[in-house]
Amino acid sequence: MEKKAYRAHVLALPYPSQGHVNPMLQFSKRLTSKGIKATYATTVFLSHTMKPESLGSVEFDTISDGCDQGGFSEAESIHDYLKRLEAAGSKTLAELIIKYKNSPHPFDCVMYDSFLPWALDVAKQFGLVGAAFFTQACAVNYIYYYAHHGLLSLPVSSEPVSIPGLPLLQLRDMPSFIYVAGSYPFYFQMVLSQFSNSYKADFVLVNTFYNLEHEAVDSMSKVSPLLTIGPTIPSMYLDKRVENDEDYDLNLFKLDSSSSTEWLSTKPPGSVVYVSFGSMANLSVKQMEELAWGIKQSNFYFLWVVRSSEEAKIPNKFVQEMGDKGVIANWIPQMQVLASKSVGCFFTHCGWNSTIEALCLGVPMVAMPQWTDQTTDAKFVEDVWKVGVRVEVDENGIVNRDEIESCIRQVMEGETGKVMKENAKKWKQLAIEAVSEGGSSDKNINEFVSKLTRT
Ligand code: UDP
Repeated sequence: MEKKAYRAHVLALPYPSQGHVNPMLQFSKRLTSKGIKATYATTVFLSHTMKPESLGSVEFDTISDGCDQGGFSEAESIHDYLKRLEAAGSKTLAELIIKYKNSPHPFDCVMYDSFLPWALDVAKQFGLVGAAFFTQACAVNYIYYYAHHGLLSLPVSSEPVSIPGLPLLQLRDMPSFIYVAGSYPFYFQMVLSQFSNSYKADFVLVNTFYNLEHEAVDSMSKVSPLLTIGPTIPSMYLDKRVENDEDYDLNLFKLDSSSSTEWLSTKPPGSVVYVSFGSMANLSVKQMEELAWGIKQSNFYFLWVVRSSEEAKIPNKFVQEMGDKGVIANWIPQMQVLASKSVGCFFTHCGWNSTIEALCLGVPMVAMPQWTDQTTDAKFVEDVWKVGVRVEVDENGIVNRDEIESCIRQVMEGETGKVMKENAKKWKQLAIEAVSEGGSSDKNINEFVSKLTRT
C-alpha cells in the first residue's frame, strides 16, 4: 500500500445549511495548508449545487440525508427531516468510512458539525478520532450546555439570567428557543443534543477567537477539550494570505447577476448601508414595509439583499421611488461587499457568520435579530463588543420605520457612530492576530494538527 504523503486524513461533515457549510469548508482548507488531507462530505442533495472549484485543495464525497432529490423540501416537517438526516446520515457515513478504510487514505478523524452528534457515535464505532465543530458563538454554545445539563431551569422564569463567563442576560438576550418557550421544539432539542455525547469527543473546535469571547471560552474550557480556531474567514480578507485558503465560494443560493458590487464601488467611502437577513429569516409583510420605509427615511445609499422567496413583500411604491439611491439583490458575495470601503454599516439579523464576518472586516452594525442564536449575538454586538446598536421592538412586535432610521443614523453618523467604527477596527485587528502565526487560533490549529498526527 502507498505510504501516507500527508499528516492525517480528516473527514469534514457539515450540517447542510448555508450558515454551516462555509465555516467547515474554509477550516478544512486551513487544515490542508498545514499538511492535513481533508475530505469534505456534503449531502447528495447539496452536491448538486456545489461547484468543484469551491473546494480548492479539499477532496469531496457525499453522505445521504434521505432526501437526495429535494433536500429539506422533500421532508414533511423539521422533525421528519432531522430524523431522516440521522438515519440515512449514520448509515451512509459508516459506508463512507468503510469505503476509505481499505484505500491508501483511510480517515483518521471525523470532524462533524455539532448539530450532528450521531456522527461522533459512528466515528467511535470505527475507532476514529472525533472532533466536534461548533459553528456558533462560544457564549451561545455555553448557554445550550447549561440548559442541556439542567443548570438553567426552563422555562426561564426570572431575569436577569446569570451564567459564569457571560454578561447578565435579559430574557430577550437568550437564544429564541429558550426565551420563546415551546418554539421550534425539534431545533431546540437539536441544539441541546450537541452535548448529548460531547464528553466522548476528542476535540471541541469553536469558530470564534479567544480575545473575542475569552470569558465564555474560559468557562466552557472547564467542561470540554475546547480549541478556538476562528475566525474561519478566508485569509485574503484578513490581510494575511495563507496557501490553499481561497475565497468563500459555496453559495447554496444563486448569485445575483446584477452588478451590485460594481455599483457599490462607485459610491463614496462609508456611504452605503448594507442590509441582509441571511439565508433563513422570513420577515412579516408589515415588518418588510417598515424596513423599506425606514431605509428610505434614513436617505443613505443602500444595498439590500432580499431572497427571491421574500421579494413579493417589498412595497411596490418603495421600488418605484428608490431610483439610484439603492440596489436590491437576491444573493451577493457578502464577504466582498463587507470588504468594500463604500459600506458604512451592516444592517443585519446577527447570524453568527454575518456577525463575525462584519467584526473581522471592521464594519459596525445595526442588529435586528430574528430567532435562534441571533438574539444573543445582538446582545454582544451592542453591549460587549460595542460595535453596533440593537433595534427596539414596539408594543406590536414590530421594529417601526422611525426606529430603523434612528438606528441607521446612530451607526452612520455622529460621535456614537465614530466610536463603533473605531471599536470595529480594533476587533478586526485582533481577528487578524488570532489567525496569524503564533496567534491564539493559529496555535490551537497547530495543536489539533499535531495531536492528530500523533494518534
Ligand atoms: N451570505 C452571502 N450572500 C448573501 C447573504 C448571506 O454570501 O447575499 C452568506 C454570509 O456571508 C454568511 C451566510 O451567508 O456566511 C449566512 O450565515 P449567517 O450565520 O449569518 O446566517 P444564517 O443564514 O445562518 O441565518
